[in-house]
Amino acid sequence: MSIVSEKMYQLGSKRSEIRELFEYGKKRTAEVGAENVYDFSIGNPSVPAPDCVREALANLILHEDPVALHGYTSAQGDADVRKACADYINKTHSANVSANDFYMTCGAAASLTISLNALSTGANEEVIVLAPYFPEYKVFITQAGMKCVEVKCREEDFQIDFAALESAISAKTKAVIINSPNNPSGAVFSEKTIQTLSALLTRMQETFGTTIFILADEPYRELVYDTETVVPFIPNYYDNTVVCYSFSKSLSLPGERIGYVLVPPKAAEHDALYYAVCGAGRALGFVCAPSLFQKIVPACIGKTSDISVYKKNRDLLCDALTKFGYQVVHPDGAFYLFVKALEPDARAFGEKAKAHDLLIVPSDSFGFPGYVRISYCVSTEMIKRSLPAFEALAKEYGKA
Ligand code: PLP
Repeated sequence: MSIVSEKMYQLGSKRSEIRELFEYGKKRTAEVGAENVYDFSIGNPSVPAPDCVREALANLILHEDPVALHGYTSAQGDADVRKACADYINKTHSANVSANDFYMTCGAAASLTISLNALSTGANEEVIVLAPYFPEYKVFITQAGMKCVEVKCREEDFQIDFAALESAISAKTKAVIINSPNNPSGAVFSEKTIQTLSALLTRMQETFGTTIFILADEPYRELVYDTETVVPFIPNYYDNTVVCYSFSKSLSLPGERIGYVLVPPKAAEHDALYYAVCGAGRALGFVCAPSLFQKIVPACIGKTSDISVYKKNRDLLCDALTKFGYQVVHPDGAFYLFVKALEPDARAFGEKAKAHDLLIVPSDSFGFPGYVRISYCVSTEMIKRSLPAFEALAKEYGKA
């Protein structure tokens, strides 16, 4: 018997499929040169952080007291930073939140683990995820002592299948995780969808006499590309919502680990829930998110990197792949394309793509087999260079 936790060993010794492919890409680049490898594996923003980040950092480093700047903030985050978050949310979404509803975190991953641990009472609870979903959800949910229940979205547009969702909800349902804009499908849930979801959950709460939360996982909130695409602010539609936000993608800062949990005032047992969030942050070792990057938030909140690059990439890839005979659901947001594999086994298809040095992620770990995810947060130049490889791959299957 080992002296280490078998559960943690399993998690740590097996890299995720995405990371595995990313590492393979690095190895392959060393062998054949970067210009011959088309790495679409990972969601690492490819455009630099906006100027406000550099300016805010320079200003802080040159003018702030270094001891205070790099010191601990309050466990839940600097009070001025949390106030800036509250002011921005109130101004943008006509909400009524305050600094004391926010807990600054190390990105959306921490926001989710903190929220799930805060909600888990140990009473055999379930959390519903809508497939396709970010694979780490399963890890976060089970680690918080709850069961992950998958509900598939509609295949034609990756929108919510409300009949399937309703039949998955039971007295055990503690929360539903909503990720819009979505990784990996790029789908965005419209206002009407959120209204329907809210009505369903309200009815289910009454049926079972329980409280069901929406965990709104929102690292891609600002990444939408058409003026008609609006991302509703879910607490305005459903009271029992906890927002898990991250600046990783909007400001191109994934390595800096900065985000927040927002417990809106109308959420059930608000004060207890906020304290449970603080407690989970403490228990998980997430007190005091990185101080320097907390302090750039007041100057940068609401701004984004140059996302026009992602729009250009999306349109270029969607048009070309459709022309080559691939089945693509046009994504409204995030920076992923979810494409039907040209054979039923997406892993086998991914291996054939690899032979063309196209690194695309099979969808099995997203809970929706038969597809591949293509991250288009890469250089436009690489996309252009990759198109002949996508065409050759399609030809192998009698397309293009
Ligand atoms: N949720 C989704 C849907 C994601 O795609 C990611 C990262 O790619 C995360 C959460 C984690 O984000 P962060 O890097 O801010 O922890």
